[in-house]
Formats: sequence, structure tokens, C-alpha cells
Amino acid sequence: MTAEPREGLRDTTPYMSPQLEIAARLNTNESPHPLPRGFFDELVQAIANLPLNRYPDGQMRRLREELAAMYGTDVSGTWAANGSNEILTQLLQAYGGPGRRALTFEPTYLLHTRLCSLTHTAIEHRPLPADFVLTPAEVDIAAALAPDVVFVCSPNNPTGNAQPVGIVQALAEALPSSLVIVDEAYGEFAPHASSIGLLGAHDNVAVVRTFSKAFAMAGARIGYVLTSAGVVGDLERVRLPYHLSALAQTAAIAAIHHRVEAAQLLDATREQRDRISAELATIPGMTVYPSEANFVLFVPPGDATALWQALADRGVLVRDMTAVVPGALRVTAGSEHETDLFLGALKEALHA
Ligand code: PMP
Repeated sequence: MTAEPREGLRDTTPYMSPQLEIAARLNTNESPHPLPRGFFDELVQAIANLPLNRYPDGQMRRLREELAAMYGTDVSGTWAANGSNEILTQLLQAYGGPGRRALTFEPTYLLHTRLCSLTHTAIEHRPLPADFVLTPAEVDIAAALAPDVVFVCSPNNPTGNAQPVGIVQALAEALPSSLVIVDEAYGEFAPHASSIGLLGAHDNVAVVRTFSKAFAMAGARIGYVLTSAGVVGDLERVRLPYHLSALAQTAAIAAIHHRVEAAQLLDATREQRDRISAELATIPGMTVYPSEANFVLFVPPGDATALWQALADRGVLVRDMTAVVPGALRVTAGSEHETDLFLGALKEALHA
């Protein structure tokens, strides 16, 4: 006897990103920095006093208030979940689904398409322009297609560039009854490019952010969305009861209390990113894409997948992006030491 899953499920491959024990893990855009000691002291104290025999606050009130205070936004338009991937899933459960359509501009974050398929949302892909920066032409394309959901990723994974806020605004205005999801997982690295300023005047914009990158808390799985009260009302309808554990809520609140220390590390990451870009640009035959995030996309001379392997053999794990951008690899900006390891291994591999 074998249980048959629903039709089409087995066409979906399980999500996988290799997590090897390796000297430099530069494939998933994590922060290289441990959280500050004061954060752990506060967290341990707060957890020691948690009534874990009770369900957590299903409304996540304290966390939402802290988030709203951090951004000066309205708590009724603030919502949190287990990583921004769960936020994206909940948004699609509410605004996508059978008979509904979403639009992405490619190349972009693969999970947007994957989550559409998991929520039975039809998906339309259109290309980004050659430099990956959205223009009014893409707004016209979106207006003609009239999808229920449109994704913008800014800074965009895997290309690294931010998208113009004016284009996000134009999309929101051209598609007044559609949801414009702005995935700002890397938004802290490019604060000038955030769409948060559109909130208030544009109820159909949802800015999705995460504690996984700039806040160095990928292991805690906490993401959030800043949007309108109407959208949050719909998320309340689709979410599972008590979806965000008391442990995660407590960790997120402690992280917000230590946000100044987290923000101080952004410059160090940007410095490594710019160093990587500058060094890559000196290599003949290399194409380097400008990045405003904590990673750099590049097209090396020769066979990129072979280079990926040569780097892994030398203890440096980067992301093979060749399926998304022909010939491209993506490297996370980690610590100074990790950059040294990456650049050393790269030069060695290219001359091997
Ligand atoms: N959006 C983008 C663009 C990402 O790159 C990632 C993680 N790589 C996420 C969302 C998901 O992050 P998390 O679920 O850890 O918040």
C-alpha cells in the first residue's frame, strides 16, 4: 500500500541548499556575526520567565508594537511569522490561491515561484531589463497582465541591485486591487531604497522583512510584514492558531532591543561586499553585478559550475546560480577572514 500525494506534488523537488561543514559558508547570505552578549543575557532572562505551559499571544501584540515603534508605522498593519518565507506563504494564501495569478520579474528569489506553486497560485514570469532594474515598461506589462499579486524583490536576490521606489509606487497605482509584495529581506543594507515610505498612502503594498539577515538571527526563523490593516486582517484569516511561538516572539523582541548593535555591523558587511566587488572586477573576463545587499553576483570566465566545485574543494561554499542567471555564482559578504578565504581560493582555482 502506498499513499498517493496530490497531483503534481512530486514534480516539486524538496527545497535544498547544501549545508556542508566547510571553512567559509558563503551560500545563504547569513550574517557572519554572532549576536551581542547583551542580547543573549536578555533572552535567557526573558525565556526563564516564559509561561510555556500556555499558548503564546496569538496576536503577537508586544512584538507587533515593538516592530511598529521601530518603524513608526501603525501596529494594525504590522504582522510577524516564522521567517519571511512564512509571511510570503500567508500573503499568497490570502491573495493568491486557485484561480488567481501572480507575476514575478526574473531573475529573482526562487521561493516566490515555489510558494506560488505550493499555494496553487498561477504564475507569470517576465524578464527584468538587462541591468535587472525595473522601468516603467515593466509597470505597463504588469498593468496589461493584471495579476492578483506582483512581486518586487529589493535589493533583488540573486542580482543584488535595489529597485526604484517610484516603480513600486507606479505598480501599486497601476494595480489598485492587486497586492504588491516588496520583498525587502536585504532592505537594511539599502535603507534609501525601501518602500516603507509608501505605506499609509498605498494600502495594497506589503513590505516583507526578516530577522535572518541584518539582525543575524536566521536560526530563530522570524520575519514580518509592514502593510495596511486590511492586509493584516486577511493574514489573520489564513494563519494557523498561535503560529509564532513564545520563544520566537521573545527572541524577536530582544533582538529589537539590541538593534543598534546589529545596525553597527551593517557597515562591516557592506565593506566586505564592496571589497569583493572591487577585487572581482580586477579579474580579466569577470562580470560583476553591482550590489546593495550582503552578497555579490558574478559571472566568472570559464565554467562556473566547475569553479563552484573548485571553490568547495578549497573550503569555500558559494551559491551556484547558473540555473537562474547563465554562468553566474553568488557569494555572501561575510567576515573579513571569510572574504580572504574566498578571494584566495578563487585566485587559486582560476589559475589551477
Ligand atoms: N526573501 C529573500 C529575497 C531571501 O533571499 C530570503 C532568504 N534567503 C528570504 C526571503 C527568506 O528569509 P527568511 O525566511 O529566513 O526570513
